[in-house]
Amino acid sequence: MGRIADITTAQTTEAERRIRAAGQRPTRARLQILQALLNLAQPANHGEIQEYMLTRWAETMDRVTLYRGLDWLVQHQLTHRITADDRVWRFSAINLEHPSHPHFHCLRCGQVLCLPESQLPAPQLPADYRVEDVEMVVNGVCPHCQRDN
Ligand SMILES: [Zn+2]
Ligand SMILES: [Zn+2]
Repeated sequence: MGRIADITTAQTTEAERRIRAAGQRPTRARLQILQALLNLAQPANHGEIQEYMLTRWAETMDRVTLYRGLDWLVQHQLTHRITADDRVWRFSAINLEHPSHPHFHCLRCGQVLCLPESQLPAPQLPADYRVEDVEMVVNGVCPHCQRDN
């Protein structure tokens, strides 16, 4: 414990700023998880988040703490959870400018990317249905994998 000072960077301030702006208490685990997601910049699964903490900060976080922290961040709209058709949950810090956006799942490399500049379609629903949230994952081939052809 006490290593949080080691990761006190401009971005740590950003994680703390976001949690405080939500009127919440920035515990060490919440700060670390949100910080890792902000640094990763693209959706990451549980294993990738743990690996990031270990390789960058020499920090280990047990699965229960990580799962609880991620649930908390999702619940408080500081993080979004993406379910692609490989059934792996991935997490990404909320994009403040484009909080709702489609995601792209590359069928070759398996990466899932946020597409913050793309628009989500507005579904036409039967009467009496109300939209709360729209999720969309586009399957295809990412630019990187197309270059490798
Ligand atoms: Zn790819
Ligand atoms: Zn996203």
